[in-house]
Amino acid sequence: MEKRLRLAPSPTGLLHIGTARTALFNWLYAKNTNGKFLIRIEDTDIVRSKSEFTTNILDGLNWLGLNWDEEPIKQSQRISIHKEYIKKLLEIGAAYRCFTSEDEIHELREKQKANGLPPRHDNRHRNLTSKEIKEFISQGRSSVIRFKIDEEAEIKWEDQIRGEIKWQGKDLGGDLVLSRRTLGDEIGDPLYNLAVVVDDNFMNITHVVRGEDHISNTAKQILIYRALNFKLPIFSHTPLILNSEGKKLSKRDSVTSIDEFKEMGYLPEALANYMAFLGWSIKNPENEILSLSEISKIFNLSDVNKAGAKFNWDKLNWINSQYIKKMELKELNQFIKKYWNDMGWKSPSKEWDLKLTNLIQDSMILLRDAIDQSKPFFCLSQMQKEGTDFLENKKEAKESLQYIVDYLKEENISKVTSNKAREIISKISINHSIKKGILMKSLRVAFFGCLSGPDLIQSWELFSEKKSDIYLIKRCLT
Ligand code: GLU
Repeated sequence: MEKRLRLAPSPTGLLHIGTARTALFNWLYAKNTNGKFLIRIEDTDIVRSKSEFTTNILDGLNWLGLNWDEEPIKQSQRISIHKEYIKKLLEIGAAYRCFTSEDEIHELREKQKANGLPPRHDNRHRNLTSKEIKEFISQGRSSVIRFKIDEEAEIKWEDQIRGEIKWQGKDLGGDLVLSRRTLGDEIGDPLYNLAVVVDDNFMNITHVVRGEDHISNTAKQILIYRALNFKLPIFSHTPLILNSEGKKLSKRDSVTSIDEFKEMGYLPEALANYMAFLGWSIKNPENEILSLSEISKIFNLSDVNKAGAKFNWDKLNWINSQYIKKMELKELNQFIKKYWNDMGWKSPSKEWDLKLTNLIQDSMILLRDAIDQSKPFFCLSQMQKEGTDFLENKKEAKESLQYIVDYLKEENISKVTSNKAREIISKISINHSIKKGILMKSLRVAFFGCLSGPDLIQSWELFSEKKSDIYLIKRCLT
């Protein structure tokens, strides 16, 4: 039978790393088994759901390469169907109308707290007569629909990640609210646990893969599946993503939304590759740089760990740098060019663009690094202390630069290619008995204002094409 998996995000915020990782595991398993990956937008919380968030979630999944196989379903369009099922549960006696007021619930909680008991509803209206119900309604009392949780029930399932999980009905907090509070004999808007069961059944979902924070919901949902006589899907609960302190990764951990990763300069392929290893691992990892399609061939939910997965920035950065290294120059340049355009930096030619891209490619970790690394080729680098110290204290430093200026003039050289640069350095070194190292360091200071930077020979070619090399050298001679 075809496996059908789904992501069911609530559009109450931007696409978060946790949801994206859940999406990824669903997607990988669907691909691995030749199944389908579907999306259901759980937008029934009218106050907190926003269409911008739906767009952001879908765009983010697309960006990561997690394509879906059928038109996404909006839960809000299925409310009347959910209500039909609540009616059905009322009819078969599996649910009932409960009039306990907010104040009464508060009072009950306070008592339980005082006695050191966990919060649970006392099911006080489970057996109201129809006369009592009418009376409550006519008194203007509002009500919710509650699903009867059998205290004696044992709920067991074989979780694909965690193995057997067992829950007792008595540990589920009493009868479960299925719908929001209403007046009269209306059925209020359906709540998560009911809607999710009805929709997963409707979408023929065979495998539910979601965060471990849903484990107790699964126990409740299994009871609803049983009451409605629906076929149970196979459940898997993924581990949480933890921060460096071992706590659940949250908005407080600076970066959590997928947009922010994009903004910081992570490539979608690298982030997706890294996310796959957040909780999942391969037995003999020879190579952890794998495309989603490669991972999908070896991915299995049973290899996902139970323990929380620590978010490791160093590993993510390393993976990102590997992807940047492997990129086609032209493709990488397109990303880099966007930054240059944003900065208002103009380059002399397309060829030059590719040369500079090539020069910085291997030292980039994030795409954004292109800004700092290409800046010296567009803007005058400030002289740093190590640069001035070198020019002032190293005997032949300024002399070398003067020789270079003279040589360029005498030989009438206006364009210094890499080959030419090597030749010039060699010749001056021989003619004036100056170590090549000194010549190169002096030039480096002229170009970059300090003693570090990218390959000097290639850099010279780039400065020369921009006609700024002579100016940069001369600024050190005054
Ligand atoms: N809307 C729920 C959430 O975002 C879905 C959980 C589920 O997959 O059932 O947590």
